[in-house]
Amino acid sequence: MTVSGLWCCAVCIFADAQAMVSLPQFCYIALMKNNHHVTIPAPITSTANAEVKFLRALHERKYRRQSGWFLAEGTRICNEAVALGWDMHRLAFLAGRDNETHVRKLLDALDRADGRALPMSEKLLQRISRKDNPQMLLGAFRQKWTDLDAVTPDLSRPWVALDRVRDPGNLGTIMRSADAAGAKGIILIDDCTDPYSVEAVRASMGAIFNVEIVQCNQSDFVAFTQQWTNQNGQIIGTALPASVDYRDADYSGALMILMGNEQAGLPPSLMQLCTQLIRLPMLGRSDSLNLAVATGVTLYEVLRNRR
Ligand code: SAM
Repeated sequence: MTVSGLWCCAVCIFADAQAMVSLPQFCYIALMKNNHHVTIPAPITSTANAEVKFLRALHERKYRRQSGWFLAEGTRICNEAVALGWDMHRLAFLAGRDNETHVRKLLDALDRADGRALPMSEKLLQRISRKDNPQMLLGAFRQKWTDLDAVTPDLSRPWVALDRVRDPGNLGTIMRSADAAGAKGIILIDDCTDPYSVEAVRASMGAIFNVEIVQCNQSDFVAFTQQWTNQNGQIIGTALPASVDYRDADYSGALMILMGNEQAGLPPSLMQLCTQLIRLPMLGRSDSLNLAVATGVTLYEVLRNRR
């Protein structure tokens, strides 16, 4: 299918969530009403189905950007998202499972958001998730982004800023650790991997639904840090050349933990914004820690200091 063809499908899908008949490839044979108000159509059997194609396309950043949607896999994660107030717009699930309690809860949530239920075979779920052993269901949600202007120093909850993080697994793991350590959100500076990619969402294990995500360029971040420090916020940068051991740093006040790129580390232009620069001791032969590990260790040191 061409790019414009795929986008046409997407537009058609979004155009009118109610007007299901506007989807030519969507066979609503034997439309059934169940206990929910949401309609459970006949199982989708074809890979050419427009909804299947659209959900598959959400693996690509271009289509996530255009649609503003993303995929989350698994019952627990989708249920958590819904419990946190996220609207679910599509639910792709194993045909015949709609009466299982955890699926029923999601169908109710789908109904509240005027979403669509998409029962299908395991093979089709596999095609959408691109995994050999897919979860038995997948949800499509709308992305949420927080404005940089809305980020203010918070004494009880640190923020994490990441400079050009490239690895989706690292970003997902950082979201997970940030959520676990009570951080409020993550600021992505400059050209970062997409937090809403399937890989990052997978690695976040659902934490993406509970941390705020901000995206900005370096010059906006520099301007923002002026206000942050004017309001007595600290910026703690982590860098290999730093002389302060992370166990001796001052973690008082509202904190922004600033982490460098996987290859290049923090550039001098960002290091100079920091109120403190800390290092994690390296006792063996490795010259640095993995970015996500370094972020986790630092966040837990912040937590330890807040007891
Ligand atoms: N070659 C890079 C460098 O020179 O910084 C290594 C980058 S490291 C893989 C990615 C990021 O994790 C660093 O920019 C820093 O924020 C953090 N990091 C990793 N190990 C660290 C350590 N021992 N002390 C402080 N920060 C560390």
